[in-house]
Amino acid sequence: MLMRNGTDTHIHASQYPNAGIFGKTTLLSWLETYTFPMESSLSDPARAQRVYSRVVARTLSHGTTTAAYYATISVPSTNLLADICLSRGQRAFVGRVCMDCLSPEYYRDESPEQGVLATKECIQHIKSIDPGYNIVSPIITPRFAPSCTSQYLHGLGQLQKETGLPVQTHISENTSEIELVKELFPESKSYTDVYDTHGLLGPKTILAHAVHLSPEERATIKERQCKISHCPTSNSSITSGAAQVRLLLDEGIDVSLGTDMSGGYSPSVLEACRQALLVSRHVAMGTADAEEKENVKLAIEEVLYLATRGGAKAVGLEAKVGGFEVGMEWDAQLVGLDGVPEGDEEEGLQGDDGLGGGTGPVDVFGWESWEDKVAKWVFNGDDRNTLAVWVKGRLVHERR
Ligand SMILES: [Zn+2]
Repeated sequence: MLMRNGTDTHIHASQYPNAGIFGKTTLLSWLETYTFPMESSLSDPARAQRVYSRVVARTLSHGTTTAAYYATISVPSTNLLADICLSRGQRAFVGRVCMDCLSPEYYRDESPEQGVLATKECIQHIKSIDPGYNIVSPIITPRFAPSCTSQYLHGLGQLQKETGLPVQTHISENTSEIELVKELFPESKSYTDVYDTHGLLGPKTILAHAVHLSPEERATIKERQCKISHCPTSNSSITSGAAQVRLLLDEGIDVSLGTDMSGGYSPSVLEACRQALLVSRHVAMGTADAEEKENVKLAIEEVLYLATRGGAKAVGLEAKVGGFEVGMEWDAQLVGLDGVPEGDEEEGLQGDDGLGGGTGPVDVFGWESWEDKVAKWVFNGDDRNTLAVWVKGRLVHERR
């Protein structure tokens, strides 16, 4: 069967070697223990080449046709990630990570001025390799409020105004982080207000997580038409919380899906789909009202929407990708499911292990409806089922 694009609206390319490694950490200890040392090590171009080539190949193999990537603070290695995405044909928003505090001294921008200049260098590079931003686009990327001084956030807000480029950052992921933001920005009404007062919220802003937002913060996000990247795999992995996706959708806020690898253990958007389904059921289990309990559970169609049209809208590509309408660009994946041979059990078995060396882990017996087949793929499928992937009509991955 053919599926539409898969869009990962929040993924850290530079953390790929750490996928699955998070132990019992929560956000702030995880950053210190695993993330900063790994990211800073990618200033070595050979290492960056090795990691970025693999992460782009790996995400393509999972059907990620578009990704909003965080790279590192290093200009050459961020530029390298953009080069690799362009040559492999993966649509990508590539952000040089901006931070001038919180992280260790060996891994931060020297000053807000230097950070803005370095970001401009990356923008210039991407403009030189893909002038129309047809495949690769820059994205302004303040890591998150606690790792940027107010002066730096102002500089990046100004840069957004000058360039009209998209912005990505994290928001309201975990309660200790929210407390830290309160301490660091005492004059701000809320975490959302920090970004808002620095000119960073608008229709092209992707906010990852949004787990613990207040009603006032949600109202601001809606008014500014920001897009949320829901990252359920990550939120469970590093114990951040369960985002209220139904509430966000009911309030008219645009939601998409992110893997947030390596806060999330998997680079697969399909995994993010199934985790979104499960997290919504955990939200349901914490809901007393019987009707509301049913209502908060997401349906399979809904998570697939978030991963396709929702993702396309989050990155401003809804007119080009996300559906099969005439005139749209061909971003799609071919999904194969194994048909179990007919006949008695003995005849049906093939190969040494009795599984016939088929396509992947999803067995179809032939009596399933299309709806059931899709459900089986969403819950049991993986990259073995992704037989081919196209971006803008170009074959960018084929399973051999
Ligand atoms: Zn993240």
